[in-house]
Amino acid sequence: MAFNCYLVRAAEHTVLIETGPGDKMEPRARERAALPPEVEPLPDVIAHYGYDPDAIDIVVNSHLHWDHCSGNTVLDGAGVRPAFPKARYFASKNEWEHAHERLWRDGVSYIDANYDPLVESGQMTLIEGDTEVVPGISMWHAPGHNRDMMVVTASSAGETFCFFSDLVPTSVHVQPTWVAAFDLFPLTTIEQKTKWLGAAAAGNWLCGFGHEAEMDFAAITRDPKTQFKAEVR
Ligand SMILES: [Zn+2]
Repeated sequence: MAFNCYLVRAAEHTVLIETGPGDKMEPRARERAALPPEVEPLPDVIAHYGYDPDAIDIVVNSHLHWDHCSGNTVLDGAGVRPAFPKARYFASKNEWEHAHERLWRDGVSYIDANYDPLVESGQMTLIEGDTEVVPGISMWHAPGHNRDMMVVTASSAGETFCFFSDLVPTSVHVQPTWVAAFDLFPLTTIEQKTKWLGAAAAGNWLCGFGHEAEMDFAAITRDPKTQFKAEVR
């Protein structure tokens, strides 16, 4: 699986959606997750694609599982520092509170160094409910994978991009009843997928999935047998 991050350039903002698995995992945990032993820092990856990482002024986390926000911060000799020093970070307040509950089922998904230092310094804004973070770019409560996950939309000139995150982790999961075993609330996932994929099909949205490895951008179409289909766009 991939760890998909999307860069959105708006009129006055450069917005990064998700920051990926980062480099804070123990070697043993990295091995278990089949991650490469060394990671290229995300700012370097962004620079490699021809974008200035220092221009990123907004970072959005759909939820706080380690595989979506570990690139928020960097660990070095001096401790934890923001990977995007000029950015304002956004995440769900309820998700942040849940992260600290460390429940048996999903406590292992959270690494506090990915968000707590940013909350303490005031660099991360914890949002309550659906929020437009900059004009045209919004986070929407879309539970199922967990209680407080959010999908992200970016709209401009009549077109919409939607990042489904782990509500639809890969293109095969567009079939609403195909729910990943890691979801905490599978029935809610089915309901939310039906809602969001229906909107994507109706609006001819450009879509991105949390962990899809083959399809960077997809269109969602209606299918009589499986309800929805993802096609490369
Ligand atoms: Zn994930």
